[in-house]
Amino acid sequence: MNKPPHLSSNPSLLGLSSEDLEQFARQEGEQAFRGRQIHEWMYKRGAKSLDSITVLPKKWRDSLESKGIKIGRLDEINRVVAEDSTLKLLMGTFDNEIIETVGIPTDKRLTVCVSSQIGCPMGCKFCATGKGGLNRSLRVNEIVDQVISVRETMKRRPTHVVFMGMGEPLLNIRNVLDSIECLTNDIGIGQRKITVSTVGIPETLPDLAKLAQERLGRVKFTLAVSLHAPNQALRESIIPSASSYPITSLLNDCKKYIALTGRRVSFEYILLGGLNDKEIHAEQLADLMNGFQSHVNLIAYNPIAEENFKRPSQSRVGKFRELLENKGVAVSVRASRGRDKDAACGQLRRQKIETMRIN
Ligand code: SF4
Repeated sequence: MNKPPHLSSNPSLLGLSSEDLEQFARQEGEQAFRGRQIHEWMYKRGAKSLDSITVLPKKWRDSLESKGIKIGRLDEINRVVAEDSTLKLLMGTFDNEIIETVGIPTDKRLTVCVSSQIGCPMGCKFCATGKGGLNRSLRVNEIVDQVISVRETMKRRPTHVVFMGMGEPLLNIRNVLDSIECLTNDIGIGQRKITVSTVGIPETLPDLAKLAQERLGRVKFTLAVSLHAPNQALRESIIPSASSYPITSLLNDCKKYIALTGRRVSFEYILLGGLNDKEIHAEQLADLMNGFQSHVNLIAYNPIAEENFKRPSQSRVGKFRELLENKGVAVSVRASRGRDKDAACGQLRRQKIETMRIN
């Protein structure tokens, strides 16, 4: 059988468009409307197996199963709900890896924080995920499933998706862009409600802009760059991968990205108590942002057991914000959610893996 490109390397249907599924059905000797039926059951009804799509002929379902073709949903391993209703889901993959996903509800929004890789090679010092290195990048179905699984568990339609979970999205650009296309066209999450967060990979931002334009037409998602320090020496000390990407080059690439897409860039800045939250740092950060079409998001650090970084006091966060505002920088403070349930990125997954090792 001549499979659609996606199926030649991954036998999962989740992530395919209605047109791809029509083509798939025709290649299988079925009529195109069978593909549309799969589409409806997968994305709207959340079907977990082809066998559960009872409108399809049983003979065809059996034949697909014998060929190893499946929807490609993940298995839930664990879920915890914090006092503020933040949901953390651990899900297992076909090769027994574990993915962590977070659902963050407010009155008007449900944001899903998705992972793009299993583990992460970037090794940021303040991050639980970075401690274990990279296992592999996620497939499209594994990214899309995270949003559907949060929708099912919370019984609510996600409104926003942020690629801020495990992994560096720019090291998995094609699958991230395919996922954005699927989330937009097949699940109904507007591209403007999607954010891709990167710590920065040398010379990829202009490529991201061009590739995104090819795949998605106009780029409307938000690019969030994890800066976390206002000078090169401090940045390298907390983000080792920054040693091969000077802050000046990163900001020049951001300017190229803005010129190519017409979108402003958001800069993430984790405040680490006593380390990067002093007045001098706010001044340096304001200088970097000068004349930039940008926005700064401040986040107070969530401690993890392995590192000695401290969470800054609320007054320190407020002061840092005020200093930036006084210099004309567009700034907001992101509230920490789910703090009573191991909120730091990758923390819950690491605990699960440790427990499995002990048992
Ligand atoms: S903060 Fe992000 S880029 Fe850095 S190690 Fe953690 S997951 Fe990777």
